[in-house]
Amino acid sequence: MNSLKETAYMCPFNITEHIAKAHQQVEQACLKFDRNPSDVQVLAVSKTQPAEAIRAAAATGQQAFGENYLQEALQKKQQLADLPKLEWHFIGAIQSNKTRELAENFDWLHTLDRLKIAQRLNDQRPDHLPPLKVLIQVNISDEASKAGVAPATALAFAQQVMQLPRLALSGLMCIPKATEDFTKQRQAFAQLAALQADLKKVLPTAHLNTLSMGMSSDLEAAIAEGSTCVRLGTAIFGAREAKH
Ligand SMILES: *Cc1c(COP(=O)(O)O)cnc(C)c1O
Repeated sequence: MNSLKETAYMCPFNITEHIAKAHQQVEQACLKFDRNPSDVQVLAVSKTQPAEAIRAAAATGQQAFGENYLQEALQKKQQLADLPKLEWHFIGAIQSNKTRELAENFDWLHTLDRLKIAQRLNDQRPDHLPPLKVLIQVNISDEASKAGVAPATALAFAQQVMQLPRLALSGLMCIPKATEDFTKQRQAFAQLAALQADLKKVLPTAHLNTLSMGMSSDLEAAIAEGSTCVRLGTAIFGAREAKH
């Protein structure tokens, strides 16, 4: 990694303006669907973006960033070590031989769907850090290609995760089947919200307060159905270059 002083970042557009627009979109959706904007966190998905794009976003007050690729995230974390207040969310696929670095470097993990991974993260979460906040990824559209537990097994899995003291089970996450049909978008998100409501009834001691759903193209439908965390990449940083 380049340890020299970073060269000035030439942002392809005005990040301040993009972030303001993304927040406006979120606020408008909240107004339209009778949600309180302070209940919807904007997670800036910074995968494939340079550290300096995150620095520029952080300068506008954005604190929570989502990353999909571990090595890339660790490099950027190191480059941004002088910004101590950032909150790091892992939203990518988890490889079982990478759990230690995940447990040591992230505040949140949105993509938990296997007990073996949960146990490893629990064992490897350092004592000086608070329990790792985890969300169970649910394969809400039942796509063979997608990660996530089946809705029918979410309760049993949640009960197992709750036994792990170094993990703090905090809610559910989904990436529904892509569609431009607003009604269909809402249906998928409504299913995840209903599942979370069911789990809360059966598990009253769990703090299932986070529903991570909605990306740049379906944030309005997600907010309509109760999302508390929209994961926005394109809306904040612009289109990504193909990579990985
Ligand atoms: C890339 C990604 C996002 C952001 O997608 P955009 O469409 O650019 O907003 C959100 N969630 C996950 C899990 C992702 O991988």
